Amino acid sequence: MSPTITDEALVLRRHRYAESSLVTHVLTRSHGRVHLLAKGAYRPKSAFSGVLDLFDTLELTWSTSKRSELGLLKAGRPLRLRRPISRNLSRYRRSLAVLELADLVARPGATESKLFSALELSLDRFAAGVDPELAELSFSLHFLQALGLAPALTHCASCGKQAPTASDSDVEVYFSAGSGGCLCRDCAREARASSARVGRLSLDVLRIANSLRSADSATLAAFRLPVERRSGVRDFIERFLEYHLETQPRSRRSARKSRRLPTRTVSR
Ligand SMILES: [Zn+2]
Repeated sequence: MSPTITDEALVLRRHRYAESSLVTHVLTRSHGRVHLLAKGAYRPKSAFSGVLDLFDTLELTWSTSKRSELGLLKAGRPLRLRRPISRNLSRYRRSLAVLELADLVARPGATESKLFSALELSLDRFAAGVDPELAELSFSLHFLQALGLAPALTHCASCGKQAPTASDSDVEVYFSAGSGGCLCRDCAREARASSARVGRLSLDVLRIANSLRSADSATLAAFRLPVERRSGVRDFIERFLEYHLETQPRSRRSARKSRRLPTRTVSR
C-alpha cells in the first residue's frame, strides 16, 4: 500500500487535467512543495469541489508513489476560508502576486515552514482588509527573511556597525543589494573598490521598510504611509527582491509597466 500523508496546504497553482481531473501545486507546512492529482475534481458530485480554492488554508491527505512525482489526493477540507480576497480586485491581484512569489521558490521535499507561515499571515491580512499594498510589501520582506535574504536595514551588512541614525529624514545611506543591504561609509568604499554596485538610498525609506517588516497585523492595519513615500519604499523592496530572485515576477512586470517607473533606482 502507498504511504499516506496529511498536511496543511495552500494552493499555488492549478490546472485542469484530462476530462474532469485537476492537477494542483500546493505549498505545505511540513512537506514543502507537493504536486497532486485530484481525480474527478470537476465532476458535479466530487468530494473535492470547492475544496481546492486559491487563498484558503486546507488540510489535504494524499498518497505517494515511487513511480510518480504526482501524489494522488485522497481527501481534503478547508481549514480557513478567505473569501473576502476574491471580492476586491486589488486584494485579489496582490494575493495572486504573493502566491506567485512563493511558487517561484518553493521546492519539493524541502522544509518551507517559514515561507508557509509568511504566506498564511499575508493572506490573513488581505482577507482582513489591511491596505493591500502594505500587506504585499510586508510579505515581500517576510519572504526574503524566510529565504535567508533579508536586507540589512539598521546595520551595515558587511561589518554589523549601526547604520546612520540622523534625525533628518532626507539623509541618504549607502546601499548595495549585492552586499546584502545598507553599508557604512568604510564598507561602501571597500565594496566599490571591489566593483560592487553601491547606491544611495533615503534613510527614511529604510526606516519605513524596517517598520513594515516588524509590524504585527494590528500595527500594519493602522499604518499610514504617505503617498509621496510609497513609490520609494515599493521600488526599493521590489528591486531588492528582483536582484535576489534574478527575475522579475510576471505580476510585477505588468504592475511596473502601468506605473511607468524608471528601470533602475536602488543600486548603481
Ligand atoms: Zn560596515
